[in-house]
Amino acid sequence: MADKLNPFEIAQRQLDEAAKILKLDEASHAILRNPLRELHVEIPVKMDDGTVKVFQGFRVQYNDARGPTKGGIRFHPEETIDTVRALAAWMTWKTAVMDIPYGGAKGGIICNPKAMSEKELENLARGYIRAIGRFIGPEKDIPAPDVYTTPQIMAWMMDEYSKIVGYNAFGVITGKPIPLGGSLGRGDATARGGMYTVREAARFLGIDLKEATFAIQGYGNAGSFGAILAKELFGSKIVAVSDSRGGIYSEKGLDPHAVLEHKRKTGSVVDFPGTTPITNEELLELDVTVLVPAALENAITAENAPRIKARIIAELANGPTTPEADEILHKNGKFVIPDFLCNAGGVTVSYFEWVQNINGYYWSIERVHEELDKKMTKAFNDVLEQYKERKVHPRLAAYLVAVQRVVEAMKLRGWV
Ligand code: GLU
Repeated sequence: MADKLNPFEIAQRQLDEAAKILKLDEASHAILRNPLRELHVEIPVKMDDGTVKVFQGFRVQYNDARGPTKGGIRFHPEETIDTVRALAAWMTWKTAVMDIPYGGAKGGIICNPKAMSEKELENLARGYIRAIGRFIGPEKDIPAPDVYTTPQIMAWMMDEYSKIVGYNAFGVITGKPIPLGGSLGRGDATARGGMYTVREAARFLGIDLKEATFAIQGYGNAGSFGAILAKELFGSKIVAVSDSRGGIYSEKGLDPHAVLEHKRKTGSVVDFPGTTPITNEELLELDVTVLVPAALENAITAENAPRIKARIIAELANGPTTPEADEILHKNGKFVIPDFLCNAGGVTVSYFEWVQNINGYYWSIERVHEELDKKMTKAFNDVLEQYKERKVHPRLAAYLVAVQRVVEAMKLRGWV
C-alpha cells in the first residue's frame, strides 16, 4: 500500500497510461518518465539560539522543452525528493495544458515553518537561494510559492538572487508582494482559476451553481479563497471546510471570511462558533455538489473513493487522488477536474507576473481576471474535447493534451 502512495510512482503511472493511448515512442516516453535534472542541497542556517542547523533542500527541473522551468517551493516537515519529483512532473503537465511557455519544476525544503521564527525563515530562504542560485534565473527556472511559502518568502528569495547577480532580477521568482513586482490577482489566482473551471464543468454537466453546496478540505491559500470565491462568484453554499486540525460543518452555510478571521486568530477553523465538528475523512464523503480537495496528496484513495458523493471534484491541491480512485470516481459518474488543470490559475497568473516584470508595465486587476478566465476556459475545453472524443476519465484526457504538447516541442527541437 505504502508503495502505491509514492507520489512520483503515481505520476509515472499516470504518464504511462497516457503514453499507451498516444502510442508514444520509446525515447519520448523515457525522457518524460524522469526529471531532466535535480539538485540536492544542504543549507546551513543560523538559528535564534546561536546554533547552526543544516536543512535539506531540493530543486527538480523536470522538463524544459517548452520554455524555462517553472514551479513553486514547499516548506514542509514531510517533504521528500519523490514528492518534489511528482510535483515537478505535474508542473510540466500544468504549464503544457495551459499552453503557457514554460516547462515544469519544483522545489522543497524539509523543515517545519510553524516552529521557526521570522528571522530563521528568512535565513533559510536566503540560504536556499545561495545554494540553488546558479541553477535558476528568469530565463532558466522560475520558482514561486507553494505549501507554507508566502509572498514575503518570495521577496527575500528575489532579494538574495538579485544580490548574487548584481541587479534587480524581479523576473526570477513569482508570487512576490505587489510593491516588488508582484502581480495584482496572484493572491487568489489558484482558487479563482479553479472556480472558472468549476463554472465550465457545471455548464457541461447542467448543474446550477446557485443551488450548489461545497465542501472544502484545506483552508490555506487555495481552500480559503476557494470558499470565498464559490460564494462570491456563484452564490453557492459552503457547508464544510477543514484544515490539518479538523473540520467544521454547517447546514445553513458558512461565512468564509469569518472562518478565515477565526483561523487567523486561533490557528485553525476548528471550533468556529455555530458549527458541528467533523473530521477530514467525513468531509470528503459529504453529500455536496462540489468537493474541493485543497490540502495535500492522496486524500482520495481506493478506500474512500466509493463513498464520495459529490458530483464534481475540483482538485485545488496537487495530487489529491490516486489512480485507483480516479477509476472508481469515473465509474460512479463523478466528474474530476484534475489538479494540473483545476489549480493552474496560480502558475498562470505567475506567468502574467513574469511577463509584467519583463515588460516593466503592470496590468489592472480587471485585465488579470479577464486573461485568466480566457486561459482557464480554453484549457478546460481542450481537455473536455479529449474527454468526449477518447472516452477516458478527465485526468487522462488532460494528460493526453499536455503530453502531446511537450512531445511536439521535443520533436521540433530534435531531441527525439
Ligand atoms: N506552486 C503553485 C503550483 O503548484 C504555483 C506555481 C507557480 O506559480 O509557478 O501550481
